[in-house]
Amino acid sequence: MKNNHKIIAANWKMNGSEELIKEFSKFAPEKHNDIIICPPFTLLDSAKTLLPSFIKIGAQNCSEKNNGPFTGEISASMLQEKSVTHVLIGHSERRTLFNETDDVIYKKAEAAICSKLTPIICIGETLLEKKANKTLQVLDYQIDGSVAKINPHEKFIVAYEPIWAIGTGLIPNENEIKETHLHIKTKLSQNFNTDIPILYGGSANAENCSQITSIKNVGGLLVGGASLNQHDFLAICNC
Ligand code: PEP
Repeated sequence: MKNNHKIIAANWKMNGSEELIKEFSKFAPEKHNDIIICPPFTLLDSAKTLLPSFIKIGAQNCSEKNNGPFTGEISASMLQEKSVTHVLIGHSERRTLFNETDDVIYKKAEAAICSKLTPIICIGETLLEKKANKTLQVLDYQIDGSVAKINPHEKFIVAYEPIWAIGTGLIPNENEIKETHLHIKTKLSQNFNTDIPILYGGSANAENCSQITSIKNVGGLLVGGASLNQHDFLAICNC
């Protein structure tokens, strides 16, 4: 059965401009889904000023530290001062390109929670792991090393993003999404009483969004490439 209220989060990665923010300033989806746009740090102020107020603003990363000699880092409390409400943590690009481990991801999620931000914690398997039938094992390992250590009373979101589906145009089939989301939900229910939203991410677009969001236990979408086009993203927010 389709759950009507979804979370649709946009990950702009290292893309976007003041112009793009302006294009989104009249963004008006018909459906009342929760929309979060995560632009690069440098566009956070413009996003807050120019985007419609129903759109929540997210960051794409934060430091695990609060302040100090960490050149180039930005803390969760600094993001909170910019009216950021959400932060992506442990995106696969951070894991692979910036060597973020599950322990670092847990510490970043804690730092975010301490600053009253909602972390969106990303997990997902590589193609090799999928081919070796290790998807559920990898998800368990990632959850145990990061998400499961979070205080059960805190609010957070999980994004299941198969790494092989990110930016490739490939997506898992319906049964695979159903299986992974049920698995994550069941695993989280061992530690957390409340329903943790579980987003799907990886090549979600205007064409496949309705099908994906109608799958049981899919609480919404984390969208990369398709979120940079306002018409596509509007269609996704209306799914
Ligand atoms: C992402 O990078 O989080 C993502 C989902 O990207 P894409 O939608 O482009 O696959």
